[in-house]
Amino acid sequence: MASADTEAKNTQTPANLRKAGWQNTKIVATVGPACNSYDQLKALTIAGVDVFRLNFSHGSHEDHQKVIDHICALNEELNTHVAILADLQGPKLRVGKIKDNALPLKNGDIITLVNEEVLGTMEKIYMSYERFAEDCNVGERILMDDGKLVFEVAETNKVDTVKLRCLHDGVLSSNKGVNLPDTNVQLPALTEKDIEDLNYILTQPVNWIALSFVRKERDILDLIERVNAVGHPAKVISKIEKPEAVKNLREIIKASNGIMVARGDLGVEMPIEQLPITQKQIVQLCMQFGRPVIVATQMMDSMIKNPSPTRAEITDVANAVFDGADAVMLSGETSVGDHPILVVEAMTRIIREAEKHYWPNIQNKRPTAIEKSKTFQSDVVCFNACRVAEELGAKGIVGMTTSGYTAFKVSSFRPNAHIYIFSDQVSMLNTLNLVWGVSCFHYDKFKTTDETIQDSVEILKEAGYVEVDDIIINTGSMPIERRYRTNMMKVTVVE
Ligand code: PEP
Repeated sequence: MASADTEAKNTQTPANLRKAGWQNTKIVATVGPACNSYDQLKALTIAGVDVFRLNFSHGSHEDHQKVIDHICALNEELNTHVAILADLQGPKLRVGKIKDNALPLKNGDIITLVNEEVLGTMEKIYMSYERFAEDCNVGERILMDDGKLVFEVAETNKVDTVKLRCLHDGVLSSNKGVNLPDTNVQLPALTEKDIEDLNYILTQPVNWIALSFVRKERDILDLIERVNAVGHPAKVISKIEKPEAVKNLREIIKASNGIMVARGDLGVEMPIEQLPITQKQIVQLCMQFGRPVIVATQMMDSMIKNPSPTRAEITDVANAVFDGADAVMLSGETSVGDHPILVVEAMTRIIREAEKHYWPNIQNKRPTAIEKSKTFQSDVVCFNACRVAEELGAKGIVGMTTSGYTAFKVSSFRPNAHIYIFSDQVSMLNTLNLVWGVSCFHYDKFKTTDETIQDSVEILKEAGYVEVDDIIINTGSMPIERRYRTNMMKVTVVE
């Protein structure tokens, strides 16, 4: 039996908090000035956020520290497992601060980008890439603010100054991203700023670290080596936002623990009409390799200002659910928007409605034996747990994990039973909160297999997830104390 203590803690779960039911597709919300107080983060969690993203392109370590402390405290208070995702800027090019945070531009205007850190005006604007003048050529296209502003290079002195001609009216604000789709730039995967940020992140209880502008497998391996060197448990996400990354997709997915379809920069760097099919291909491959995948950017963009989304945005979120994404992400909508809570509530409703019509087929996902694969036996057990769950109409599949592997694997088959993961590793449970369909429970007894199965049933029953006569498929490892990968499956009828 579960101890009274464990039972009491587990009755207040995220699903209970959210009252209105279950959702498989997770929500990632970016934290910023619009939502970084304890009360706002708590309200967002109750509204449906599963993962908070700290964008290291903005804010100081001090700012991020406050948010991290708040998230840890609210996880304690609500008994939730909300994950923290630290997003490294990568070799992103940006303009500096702009006077009054707005520089109105007209078609034909000339602006001057320089290496000097000045407050941006029509005369001079700081650009973060030192070798920009050296690398760019007259006539090349330069895009800013996710492609909303388009320029062409009018002049470069090949040292430190570039003049750009504005091709459309618009407004440039501080720290906006710059994309150079025509320019050959030589930049490292981890910049000096990333390494400084990473050194800080690795002192924190962060669950996921995302790297921007990954171009090849080696880029993400560099990050993994740094994380492993200090024994930090964080898992890594490659942000796919360069055409080169799309070319090297399989290798990057295999090397990463998770993927983000970073549509903002991807849509600027590649022909935008290729974005929908690229999103679908990335999500499919991630499911095949058992890697969680986040669809990001402009999902509910109009809600930065408006209290409700557009028809196109609703359809975009629902389509990401139909594609099979693990999570959908909010950026400016929650970080700087006027309605952070409303946007999460709206996203929750869209996901729940879409999921009523999402029927993934597990039959074509049978694992194939890869010679010498250490996980093949466990993969087959996980796959068959999903099949048996489907055939018996089981309410849930229970997994016990230390490494998280069972959760990633079972989820990748997208079963139509809920996935309940029990672990003694709190940090791992928080990590798994990003993963499709997974709900997490802290459990640290693991005495015998029978007792552990019985405890899991009692905890789920107590929390209202299952009732008498429901069927659960328990998976686990026998003998329990050896902590092998999942090697056992049992059909349990709740008594
Ligand atoms: C993106 O480009 O879509 C993205 C998520 O990256 P960032 O917000 O860091 O520019």
